[in-house]
Amino acid sequence: MPQAPTTTPKDTAPQTPLIDVMGGAARRELPVLDHGFLALIDAMPRLVPQGLTADSAIVQAARVSYGQGTKQVSEDRGLIRYLLRHRHTTPFEMIEFKFHVAMPIFVARQWIRHRTANVNEYSGRYSIMPDRFYTPTLDSVRKQSASNRQGGEATFPLSDPDQARTPEQFLEFLRDVEALHPRYMKLTEQGVSRELARIGLPQNIYTEWYWKCDLHNLLRFLSLRIDPHAQLEIRAYAAAMLALIEPIVPMTVEAWRDYELESVRLTRLEIEAIRAHTKGQAPDLVCENKREQAEWGAKRAALGLGPAEA
Ligand SMILES: Cc1cc2nc3c(=O)[nH]c(=O)nc-3n(C[C@H](O)[C@H](O)[C@H](O)COP(=O)(O)OP(=O)(O)OC[C@H]3O[C@@H](n4cnc5c(N)ncnc54)[C@H](O)[C@@H]3O)c2cc1C
Repeated sequence: MPQAPTTTPKDTAPQTPLIDVMGGAARRELPVLDHGFLALIDAMPRLVPQGLTADSAIVQAARVSYGQGTKQVSEDRGLIRYLLRHRHTTPFEMIEFKFHVAMPIFVARQWIRHRTANVNEYSGRYSIMPDRFYTPTLDSVRKQSASNRQGGEATFPLSDPDQARTPEQFLEFLRDVEALHPRYMKLTEQGVSRELARIGLPQNIYTEWYWKCDLHNLLRFLSLRIDPHAQLEIRAYAAAMLALIEPIVPMTVEAWRDYELESVRLTRLEIEAIRAHTKGQAPDLVCENKREQAEWGAKRAALGLGPAEA
């Protein structure tokens, strides 16, 4: 019988000592909302040569396509910035982060829409849902936004007794729905299956999951969920995620802030308005759509071309 060829794996010893990007910690956790948390559990690469950050894994992958070139840390930064600016995204997929998260179910519903992550969630069919509910503080109950049907905006002025009553009533309402938990427990004790008993529980009950995502898609999650258009509660988790990953991939986060988070994307009509401004004309958008006008107002103010309101 012909033998299958065998090969011996080649191990190469690192030239410089390796360090743990999580500093030897098994878990790095930040509290979020009243009972939630976001904990970094693992990262890939976990070990990097001393003096480098996990950003080096992006550079290492990119150099497969661009050749070795020079290997100075300053040039790594330049390469990462180039890749991000030109949306050469696959090298960022070489880095992964795994989190353990506890969040209210209404936050989890928004979060799960980010399909490019791997998720394993607490099972309310298998286990009892713990008595843990999200309740905003009285002074953080938001009013319905007048301009954005999907958002909340200013809080109720608590100094005005008439207005203060409404957030109090809202918290009473939450206390009433939380009082359903003992009934849920009793019904499960009486034999109702956990998978059915849980369907009467409210959306502010906490769930937990493990969430693993590569850096490219994680940055997309952050761009969408740190944005002021996202709901405040999920923004709190996005901010915690950013705080945990930033020390591990500082060059990437710096480039992402510069080219994405704190950048302004312009439409053709907006560029024409800026051209008009450089010719001494008012930077007005030639467009009748009110929403687009309002968006241009915000960008115009950010660019220092005039007030948000025309
Ligand atoms: C402020 C805000 C308001 C929102 N409001 C609503 C709402 O009212 N209703 C609602 O249903 N959703 C809403 N969403 C969810 C939103 O539409 C997206 O589903 C969510 O943000 C996930 O984005 P994503 O698809 O880019 O992420 P991911 O699922 O992580 O995908 C990342 C990228 O991978 C690619 N991709 C992934 N899957 C596919 C696929 N099957 N086919 C092709 N390309 C794919 C796409 O390029 C995508 O951008 C809202 C999101 C935000 C931030």
